[in-house]
Amino acid sequence: MSILIVETLRSAFRGELIQPTDTGYEAARKVYNGMIDKHPHLIARCVDVADVIAAVNFGRVNNLLTAIRGGGHNGAGLGTCHEGLVIDLSRMKGIRVDPEAKTVRVEAGCVWGDVDHATHPFGLAVPCGFIASTGVAGLTLGGGIGYLTRQFGLTIDNLLSVDMVLANGTFVTAHSHQNSDLFWAIRGGGGNFGVVTSFEFRLRPVMMVHFGPTFWELSEAEMVLKAYRDFIAKAPDYVNGFFAFLVVPPAPMFPEHLHMKTLCAIVWCCTGLAEDVEAATRPMRSVGHPVLDHVALAPLPAANSTFDPLFVPGLQWYWRADNFVDLTDEAIALHVKHGSQLPSMLSTMHLYPIDGAAQRVGRNDTAYSFREANFAEVIVGVDPDPANAGKITDWCKNYYDALHPYAAGGAYVNFMMEEGQERVQATYRDNYPRLAEIKKKYDPHNFFRVNQNIQPAI
Ligand SMILES: Cc1cc2nc3c(=O)[nH]c(=O)nc-3n(C[C@H](O)[C@H](O)[C@H](O)COP(=O)(O)OP(=O)(O)OC[C@H]3O[C@@H](n4cnc5c(N)ncnc54)[C@H](O)[C@@H]3O)c2cc1C
Repeated sequence: MSILIVETLRSAFRGELIQPTDTGYEAARKVYNGMIDKHPHLIARCVDVADVIAAVNFGRVNNLLTAIRGGGHNGAGLGTCHEGLVIDLSRMKGIRVDPEAKTVRVEAGCVWGDVDHATHPFGLAVPCGFIASTGVAGLTLGGGIGYLTRQFGLTIDNLLSVDMVLANGTFVTAHSHQNSDLFWAIRGGGGNFGVVTSFEFRLRPVMMVHFGPTFWELSEAEMVLKAYRDFIAKAPDYVNGFFAFLVVPPAPMFPEHLHMKTLCAIVWCCTGLAEDVEAATRPMRSVGHPVLDHVALAPLPAANSTFDPLFVPGLQWYWRADNFVDLTDEAIALHVKHGSQLPSMLSTMHLYPIDGAAQRVGRNDTAYSFREANFAEVIVGVDPDPANAGKITDWCKNYYDALHPYAAGGAYVNFMMEEGQERVQATYRDNYPRLAEIKKKYDPHNFFRVNQNIQPAI
């Protein structure tokens, strides 16, 4: 991109404009997934809404492929692009908690660890995900599944309003009474409709949680998974625990004899009184012969960031996902077969419960559609070594292919790779035509297309 063109943006821009020849470009172009290796022409690192408006106008006027980067965590690498413009929000980190109203306003460059840090001293929290370094923006716009989903719904079910810059450069606020079509669409529709510059969330009264894993040998995995399926369906909303196949890392917190063993597990994160949690979870924690069972009181931010030291930026990631209404015995047998063959220490399969409060919202009430699904499955191949990229990808695809016939038809958009239009439509189902109409209204030329793309209605 010529220096002359970039200079036209600089006069209206207070943040950093980073080009391939600049020191810092290599670090700035990297995203979380080490498999993604894209070279944008320009990274516009915004510091405020005015910068975002300038960057959107610049991208549109110069007809640049334009990506939006929040936390940079997207598995498919949709927070960056090749030979285009990246609108990078990572410096927009403002957060304001209103403890009276129990709301928080969060700028779009925050990660969930930033939000936890700001809200925890007030004894309040936003239901978010399982890793603190994930971006608020991308996670929220796709839906948001986490430890508090069964009790308080998806992250979008706790979203009150957003500020946005549209494709034509105008700034709007969207909530249930203002630009309500847009507010409906962004709750699950991803970055298709504009750049969200800040989010306002309702806060929930959660400070401490009962957190920790129960581990079982693989020989008991089939029995445990069947018991888990039946247990979680009847468990009270304050009980949350996701099922996993995992390799125990060689960390001092785990007994040495379990290090590097492939096991199955439930990772618990429950709110409420200790005696209630104990009574509610004990039947599941007593199934078979657990090799470790350690649930203890922990601050929610500690639970939310427990896996962060393990899953550091720059690893090779390949993942596939599906939603499930039922977990049949046949599907469980296939889970055990493939889950027992994790190809690396960091590879894993998680089955997140998405029932409870998340199901008390209608499938057409938000763009996120799969309200009747009980589980979100994500099969994750992870390894630091690029030489193992093929191995983790093949394992992941084989596992996914085996389970897909038992799935509900679509996936959680935030757990998808770039899998094509058919898959995007299968995910939004009967919400897709409405999303396409709203896309036509707010982004008729599909300027925002580096995403799980919703195409403007014709
Ligand atoms: C280690 C790891 C753990 C995860 N854990 C969870 C979890 O527990 N729960 C869960 O629900 N998901 C989880 N995810 C998935 C996560 O929600 C998605 O990867 C999400 O896209 C990340 O958001 P981001 O802002 O970090 O991503 P980015 O790569 O920055 O952006 C992703 C997408 O969001 C859009 N976008 C980003 N910012 C904006 C904005 N301000 N305005 C408009 N569009 C924007 C972009 O168009 C892009 O397509 C996890 C991902 C990883 C890698």
